Amino acid sequence: MTYRKILDEIRLAFPQPISNTIHDSYFIHSMMRALDQVDTLKTHLPFLGSIGTGDFDAAKKAELPEDISTVEEVTTDLVSYLQGMTIFGHPRTQQNVIAPTTIPSLIGVLLASLHNPNLCWDASSQLVALAEVEVIAMTSQLVGYDAEQSGGVFTFGGTGTTLYGVKIGLEKACPETMHKGTPEDAVVFVSDAGHYCAANITGWLGIGTNNLITIPTTSENEMDIELLEQELRKALTDEKKIACIIATLGTTDAFGLDNLLHIVALRETLVDEFQLDYQPHIHADAVIGWAWSVFNNYDFEENPLGFRPRTIRALAGACRRIQHLSLADSVGIDFHKTGFAPYISSLVLVKDRTDLDLLKRSPEQMPYLYHFGQYRPGMFTLETSRAGTGVLAALANLKLFGEEGLRAILGHIVEMTQLLREHLEGHEGTTVLNRGNFGTVTLFRAYPVGVDTFEIKRQEFEDAGNRDILIAHNAYNKEIFQYVNSEAMEGRGVFISTTDCYRKTAYGEPIVALKSFILSPFVDEEDVKTVVAKVLEAREAIG
Ligand SMILES: *Cc1c(COP(=O)(O)O)cnc(C)c1O
Repeated sequence: MTYRKILDEIRLAFPQPISNTIHDSYFIHSMMRALDQVDTLKTHLPFLGSIGTGDFDAAKKAELPEDISTVEEVTTDLVSYLQGMTIFGHPRTQQNVIAPTTIPSLIGVLLASLHNPNLCWDASSQLVALAEVEVIAMTSQLVGYDAEQSGGVFTFGGTGTTLYGVKIGLEKACPETMHKGTPEDAVVFVSDAGHYCAANITGWLGIGTNNLITIPTTSENEMDIELLEQELRKALTDEKKIACIIATLGTTDAFGLDNLLHIVALRETLVDEFQLDYQPHIHADAVIGWAWSVFNNYDFEENPLGFRPRTIRALAGACRRIQHLSLADSVGIDFHKTGFAPYISSLVLVKDRTDLDLLKRSPEQMPYLYHFGQYRPGMFTLETSRAGTGVLAALANLKLFGEEGLRAILGHIVEMTQLLREHLEGHEGTTVLNRGNFGTVTLFRAYPVGVDTFEIKRQEFEDAGNRDILIAHNAYNKEIFQYVNSEAMEGRGVFISTTDCYRKTAYGEPIVALKSFILSPFVDEEDVKTVVAKVLEAREAIG
């Protein structure tokens, strides 16, 4: 074939640059075929097709094909890679903090991919840049920032949002590290229930993981404020520079909520007392918890949306901490977690947009960009090219849901979580470990017939004399987990997950727990009851 003939075929594989309605139909039809093929992978089970193990040895030998393929061939090939994927929206998966995605957010991703805006500046993104500014404004108001003052930028994940927070804080505590490099006396604080990305970030920024100070958490999974104070005082006495205090609002596994009000007050006290010439930066890692802000001004007494009393209590309990988000200097938000958008859709907000200037490069360093336009985040972002996909996905969902929709969806999953706990507590064989927790994760344990589940939790936790019993019950719960999930594989029951260390006992032994993480709006009371029924059935089967 001459190259011209090949080119003609390849041109058909692009959306047409000049309107061509016949070709548009082909484009849409191609996508429909892809979706149809995905649909044939759906059964009553909560995953696509069948779960197998990938042949990584064969994958390592993959070669570039010699000849061109058709759109249809490539489509079928691509769909095959979805085999075994969990259907995160399925009512019978309660495994992890992975969100099902809405149709408008998918359309957002498609549109941004179709015309490829680059958010490094408005000259290459046009009005998609405006969409970013709108999402920043809406979200600022939601968390309680003054949108006139605040700023923000979409970045490469929740990890990226914390990276921005820590980097800004580092520049405040140790000016000009951008030029001079990171000094050895910078330290960062985070709770032991905070996300491990803090270790990654201190490592990558050159602060060093040895300078990440981890503060133990209380039984409510929030940072122990007295220990934080001790460690901060110690660091300041040792003439360390506090680059950042990371407060986690919504820990990944247990929805622990750090007390920002206290942390900020503590900062003010220490700045005065130690006569600091900088304000230690406080970053709120709220990538999970941010969405609860929609309840900040909900009338819990009137309860117009009709949630059950236990739900109201959990929502109000979360808001007690979330309402103080605006006290943080910066906040991380993942729309791809509790915002029901596809990966990656993450936004870091700063209370004072001039903080972002601390990250600016000089124009001489970027000779071929930013000569005109009025929106130039590329002057300070870590990234050079930034996709518009996350922005349009986030905007789509904020518009789709509004305050009311987010309230309904979050309220519902909290309600289902509370119901699950109620049912688990209604049986003598099961006990909830994080009873007072406000999130949508439930950590629980099952015990063999004959064990006094009212007493056992305390006995196992406090008394080292019960170490062997604890270890036996750890193994027992792993067996329960195996049973429940192999039943779910057969279409009988619900996928849950497990954690090897819900927390450690007073004598340092890890406590294994069963875990239900509800994030799908499709979960309903019947699915919740099924979890309990299956655990009880496993208990009968195992003995
Ligand atoms: C998920 C998570 C992160 C990391 O976010 P990514 O979007 O996965 O990079 C950080 N902090 C918390 C609390 C998280 O749950």
